[in-house]
Amino acid sequence: MRTAIISDIHANLEALTAVLADIKRRSVDRIFCLGDIVGYGSNPNECIQLIQKYSSKTVIGNHDVVVFDPLMALEFNDNARVAIEWTHRILTKQSFDFLRSLTINHTEENVTLVHATPYDPHLWHYISSLEDARFNFPFFKTTFCFIGHTHIPGIILLESETAKLRIAPPGVFHYGKLSDTSRFMINVGSVGQPRDRDPRSSYLILDTHEKTFSFFRVEYDIASYQKKMTDLGMPPFLINRIAEGR
Ligand code: ZN
Repeated sequence: MRTAIISDIHANLEALTAVLADIKRRSVDRIFCLGDIVGYGSNPNECIQLIQKYSSKTVIGNHDVVVFDPLMALEFNDNARVAIEWTHRILTKQSFDFLRSLTINHTEENVTLVHATPYDPHLWHYISSLEDARFNFPFFKTTFCFIGHTHIPGIILLESETAKLRIAPPGVFHYGKLSDTSRFMINVGSVGQPRDRDPRSSYLILDTHEKTFSFFRVEYDIASYQKKMTDLGMPPFLINRIAEGR
């Protein structure tokens, strides 16, 4: 079984289209999405339609929740709030209904999907240190937990023999070489707004036959996307960060 896992699209249609084309070339059995389909970018309705069509399971992100729970926007910074208010105005009823239908997490076979953290995902905490990861491992039971939210791809693995945590850089990882009871928390990075100083879209393919997971980076038409954002009058910070990957 080959599963592509994508996250944090943020209404960036140019990036999502490029990633879906890349996934198609690599022939997968299914696609999972970890949320934040909307927020920041110029094409929320179109991105929701593509996710509805191609993702067999999608969990909700904080930017997806905030469009129908406006009180939550009070916690957002000014730039994110401007984008969310604009998104709220142009979302169609079908888009609202789809976002509202999404669950906060999902578990099947040996995989857990959640946008932010296995521990109380409604808090929208970030996993950005080994301590954060150590705290969260007991809150999922599967071998793999795929997350997004920080927009920074990476692997944290818990070795069962030593109970030690290890960080592995994104790339191709052969988990078949480890003991069967090792467990993984894997951030797949962001399609629409990468923040690891690499502006190319990030996603991952889990191959349970080869026993690998592989990160991929995809180039897309950043200039066209930035032009659209400029024409919509989006805050310059949100436009500039796209080319810088931050
Ligand atoms: Zn996000």
